[in-house]
Amino acid sequence: MANTLQTTCCIVGGGPAGVMLGYLLSRKGVHVTVLEKHKDFFRDFRGDTVHPSTLELMHELGILEEFLHVRHQQLRSISGVVGGFRFKVADFSRVPTHCKFVALMPQWDFLNFVTENARRFQGFDLRMQHEATDLLRNSGRITGIMAQTPDGLMEIMADLVVACDGRQSRIRKAAGLPLAEFGAPIDVLWFRIGRHKDDPEQLFGNINYGRALVLINRGDYFQAGLIIRKDSFEDIKRVGLEAFRDTIAQIAPYLRDRVHELQDWEEIKLLSVKLNRLERWHQPGLLCIGDAAHAMSPAGGVGINLAIQDAVATANLLADGLRERRVTDELLQSVQRRREFPTRMIQAAQANAHKVFAQLFRNTGPVKAPWQLKAAVRIPGITHVIGRAVGIGVRPEHIRDARRSPAYRNERVAKIALGVGIAVGFVIAYRKLWGAR
Ligand SMILES: Cc1cc2nc3c(=O)[nH]c(=O)nc-3n(C[C@H](O)[C@H](O)[C@H](O)COP(=O)(O)OP(=O)(O)OC[C@H]3O[C@@H](n4cnc5c(N)ncnc54)[C@H](O)[C@@H]3O)c2cc1C
Repeated sequence: MANTLQTTCCIVGGGPAGVMLGYLLSRKGVHVTVLEKHKDFFRDFRGDTVHPSTLELMHELGILEEFLHVRHQQLRSISGVVGGFRFKVADFSRVPTHCKFVALMPQWDFLNFVTENARRFQGFDLRMQHEATDLLRNSGRITGIMAQTPDGLMEIMADLVVACDGRQSRIRKAAGLPLAEFGAPIDVLWFRIGRHKDDPEQLFGNINYGRALVLINRGDYFQAGLIIRKDSFEDIKRVGLEAFRDTIAQIAPYLRDRVHELQDWEEIKLLSVKLNRLERWHQPGLLCIGDAAHAMSPAGGVGINLAIQDAVATANLLADGLRERRVTDELLQSVQRRREFPTRMIQAAQANAHKVFAQLFRNTGPVKAPWQLKAAVRIPGITHVIGRAVGIGVRPEHIRDARRSPAYRNERVAKIALGVGIAVGFVIAYRKLWGAR
């Protein structure tokens, strides 16, 4: 006989979407139960970018200062090297947010920070080692989930189940929601390699010899990602580790003295890149968000940000309905309406980036930077435009009530007063000059 638990909102998955939604709903007085199948957040690399728009949400929530005390690196621009030609890709110095950088922080530190803050709210209940295995239904409506826990099976009854269980979502499958797959011609191999003090600072993409190597500065090591042709990992393994090390050294010669650190294929993890999207993100009693609703490619490093933006929109649109125990299909549909457009835009950009990478694989010799690239990087302001697109994204979300909080209001009043002061100053100066003539 399974144990039973009653909650208002059952969130399946303690990734960026799940913990953020748990935080925001419990902050609004909704009782939430967040289930995470692992015992902690310490897992393989899954991206560790916290974008300016997410940092702005922290500001709106009043926890930015505390967040910035957690160890992180600040990425103020992104650079690339194509066949020896170095250039800046994106510059975050003019994004219209308080933090003009991407914070690079291991995802487990980010998730621990959000959950620690969420525990301040009475309605927040995080259950680790709880794996959702199936959905519970009554008269065509989803009424909860079945979970495997350290104490055996548990039935969790809820007014709403939110699937935040990532790209392999079990809940999405159990619901039978139709998924459109867009395919991706690339996979990524992730591994760590030592970093020396005199290595290039914020170098991001290295393109040469038909490969692209992404290097993320993590202090004393690089988190490295080698972009390869789809399903070619087994071929690469067959050729051997020595050849793999040579490939790395060929693309980034300054790594030659430490490629020997890679001793075993176990240290090299494959990310099978996927790009897909649910046609319908909801059913009565169920909503899917984050990667469960739309698996993102790592191109541009925006999946975490998008998952968090989904969580913010969901909390903004559903918190009142959940508190009043009145979550209608129309409300669930409003979340999809709000978030589908930015998802489509970003996935279209990622599909284009995939095409560029696919072309790259055709030339396995040394690459020469094309003149079009050299001309494009000279367009005035282009790096700021890209910085804004990457850092803020499409249709950024805001914490609805925080924008009306006293701190936020005071800040806006101060800005308006400053603007009015400057305008009045101009008028007075103009009149004085005019009067003097
Ligand atoms: C190798 C790799 C590198 C990436 N790099 C970047 C990057 O640099 N920047 C970026 O923005 N994005 C990156 N991404 C994408 C990013 O990780 C995702 O887009 C983002 O994490 C989606 O967040 P999510 O909360 O929707 O899902 P996830 O982060 O996938 O979280 C899902 C959670 O649900 C849990 N779970 C799954 N099934 C169950 C179940 N049945 N019951 C209970 N819990 C369950 C999982 O353990 C997990 O904690 C990368 C992804 C990978 C795999």
